[in-house]
Amino acid sequence: MQFQSPTLLTADIKISPDYQNKYLFLEQKILTLVLPLLDGPHTITSELVKVGLLNNFGNPSIMASCSVWYDFDSVNKRLTLCADELVSEKSTYITTFLNGVSNPHYQYAHSINSYASHENLLWNPNTPLTPGLAEELQSLTQRVNKELLERAIDMNLTVVQLAPPPPLPAELYKQLCPVYHNDRFVEFYDESKSYGAEYTVGNLHSIYEGKATFAADFKYANVIGSTADPKHGVSSWIELWRTTYKVANPTNCSSYHFAGTPGGGEIKPEFNCRGHFVGGHVIEGENASVMPERSDDVFIIPICTAHNNTNKAYMMPVHDNRAIMLKNYFKSYKVAYTI
Ligand SMILES: [Zn+2]
Repeated sequence: MQFQSPTLLTADIKISPDYQNKYLFLEQKILTLVLPLLDGPHTITSELVKVGLLNNFGNPSIMASCSVWYDFDSVNKRLTLCADELVSEKSTYITTFLNGVSNPHYQYAHSINSYASHENLLWNPNTPLTPGLAEELQSLTQRVNKELLERAIDMNLTVVQLAPPPPLPAELYKQLCPVYHNDRFVEFYDESKSYGAEYTVGNLHSIYEGKATFAADFKYANVIGSTADPKHGVSSWIELWRTTYKVANPTNCSSYHFAGTPGGGEIKPEFNCRGHFVGGHVIEGENASVMPERSDDVFIIPICTAHNNTNKAYMMPVHDNRAIMLKNYFKSYKVAYTI
């Protein structure tokens, strides 16, 4: 068998800012991150570069590198990355340290209070000696995530960015919590009901995987039979989407006026979107399907009620490609508390 070298995702990233003061000289450095698109999870670290020096203590060099976790699925052309707000050992970070000295500083995208050793007073970007430097490094780390997302979209990949759910009002959060009975998913939490002790309630964090950006040629179809979703769930899911993407309202159905015929690829341009918008439960592919148990493949994306009620056609993200990815959906597990 002939060995094929993997496709590479390359991104030029800025790893250090121009920043000079009495104590420090940093200059802007750009390097190229290379992610081999091989199946499975990987962590890559860029080359190590000198980005400046400390104006004292023998003027030691300041070195920097960037580390990125990612997971690739070649079958679904899906690349999983970390969103800025993810607090995890997987999160993207820029490492800086003084040459020849241990105690590196790790700057994540989610907070300026990223890990720094308090044992090395010579190198911590988040002190009054270097005002604004931690913010600049945080902003660069966020730009790394943005650059990776954009390059992946350029390559026509579907991108999932791991993230916690956005901050939600308690009332809405409750409506998005799954209820289980004998380890089987029953429905989403309905406050008007009184559940017995044999029921358990999971939380939204346990089923929210992150944000997904569909590739331009991504085809999706309805999940059939989400009748276990109580009526209030129809508005809850679109609220979750709105809050995730910080938009007031979807301006249109994501598959605006588009419906494809499964199998033949025949397109029905006469399909007219109508009704109101819902956060539709969809899966990848041309065929609507019953939601598989324990699925990690369910997405939420705004669709009109006409699309939501049409299981014989598939959709494409002609108007909006921003979705939410769920995980462990319908998965059975014991939860922390009962009602
Ligand atoms: Zn529609």
